[in-house]
Amino acid sequence: MNVILFGPPGAGKGTQAQFVVKKHNYFQLSTGNLLREEVKLNTTLGKEIEKLISNGKFVSDEIVNALLRQSINNLKFRDRIIFDGYPRNVDQAKNLKSILSAFNQTIGHIIFLNVDRDVIEKRIMGRMTCEKCHMTMNEFFNKEQIELHPCGKEFLKKRKDDNIEVVIARYDKYMESTKPVLDFYSKNANFTEIDGATEIEQISNKINDVLNV
Ligand code: AMP
Repeated sequence: MNVILFGPPGAGKGTQAQFVVKKHNYFQLSTGNLLREEVKLNTTLGKEIEKLISNGKFVSDEIVNALLRQSINNLKFRDRIIFDGYPRNVDQAKNLKSILSAFNQTIGHIIFLNVDRDVIEKRIMGRMTCEKCHMTMNEFFNKEQIELHPCGKEFLKKRKDDNIEVVIARYDKYMESTKPVLDFYSKNANFTEIDGATEIEQISNKINDVLNV
């Protein structure tokens, strides 16, 4: 069954999605990662995407939906996708529903990680992500883990959009466009809200409980 991990930027969606991938053999579909891969290719499209991301704006639905469709189309991940960072507005939520039904798939669980803005700011300002394996760590809280990271700590990079001005812009954009998605989903029987401000392990245990039912 497919799962949506939903919440504000910095809620820990990427970190938790990676745990689910390892423990439950899922495929993490992070639209942010797919877009950053396109930026790395330095194509015209990549340059356009970079401008939007570095200003805390959304990339157009057209571009994101096309990337999404390619992954849903991949039979290898059939019914084992964890969506991280998608949908981000109500149109994307409707689009996801129709693409999944076109491929005869459904959404098994919608998990909302609820976190306040002050916690988000602290988390994002220390965030470091491995360019190779996409693992996320925090330079203030995970010093030892950073030193021992198997890919080598030289691959751990700060994201350009993780600075205070852009964090605020991304949070405002979330409140304006993404929060309404909550109303779209919150009445569903398969919707679960989890306090995303607690310890990482506590959150992942709660996610496991939801997925093991
Ligand atoms: P994330 O890695 O999920 O924090 O996403 C980083 C950035 O990529 C966002 O701030 C947006 O600019 C862009 N992005 C990621 N997912 C989407 C989406 N579903 N729709 C529009 N833009 C997106």
